Amino acid sequence: MALVREKDGKRLHVKSALMGESLVSKEFIENLEVAPQERLYPDVKVMKIGGQSICDRGVKALPGILKEIVANRSSHKMLITTGGGTRSRHIYTIGLEMGMPTGVIAKFGSMISEQNALMIATLLSPWGGIKISHGDIVKLPTYFAEGIIPIMHGMPPYDYFAIKPKTGRIPIHRTDVGLVIIGDLIGSRSVLFIKDENGLYANDPKKDPDAEFIAEIGAADLLARDQDDLVIERPCLEILQNSEVLERLQIINGMVPGNITRALNDEHVGTIIHKQ
Ligand code: ADP
Ligand code: MG
Repeated sequence: MALVREKDGKRLHVKSALMGESLVSKEFIENLEVAPQERLYPDVKVMKIGGQSICDRGVKALPGILKEIVANRSSHKMLITTGGGTRSRHIYTIGLEMGMPTGVIAKFGSMISEQNALMIATLLSPWGGIKISHGDIVKLPTYFAEGIIPIMHGMPPYDYFAIKPKTGRIPIHRTDVGLVIIGDLIGSRSVLFIKDENGLYANDPKKDPDAEFIAEIGAADLLARDQDDLVIERPCLEILQNSEVLERLQIINGMVPGNITRALNDEHVGTIIHKQ
């Protein structure tokens, strides 16, 4: 950046590329040259433990999953996020019935997802589990140097500023989206969703047991299919497409022992949705 002295010699300006721009102009943004995005912590594996799909199953699902995570502790740096699950749906239902705006519904979602983060962190505390806040992300290298497994709630902190969707008032950026945003932030190539189905199907396998399994698909192709229902929140696909660092999203069935380990070792288990 150049320093420029005014003609009368009194004031010094910093001349920058964005000076005097509205930052709204499409042409300007398209032609603006930016450095490639730094990968902050590319060796960190970010994964979400599902709320409805995993946490809500309690003792039937969590011990096995946490055991597998602990077993991988010495070979992988893992950052864990949590979903909200059925309790979120419950308070969303009541909130919507009572006319609550999108921002309040989103705040409810954050609070429930935080409960699950506290529980997972507490269960993992004998093996270095620590509940962290979103602001602690920049401390990740220090946590891993100390053998800590950081756990944080997965709802992106839009809270009261969550934007009302076109239809209804359920915020569209929830904990699946939070995981993808975190992956983009820290420069991951892949993010991992631990859920209760083998991956993506052409339809919800709980409602349509004959639905076709999709082992791998491009995000653009999946968007074009315009499926009625998906295994992850819809905006995840667009965020992947726009990311400079993310290459894929992986969705696995955490109820199958060994799947988490295989996915951590970059094996193709479950569904891979790649950037296209
Ligand atoms: P989480 O609690 O991890 O956010 P959700 O319950 O919100 O998980 O989403 C996962 C669920 O999405 C699956 O258990 C499945 O029943 C449902 N689902 C809906 N559509 C699909 C689909 N096309 N493929 C796979 N699962 C789907
Ligand atoms: Mg969900």
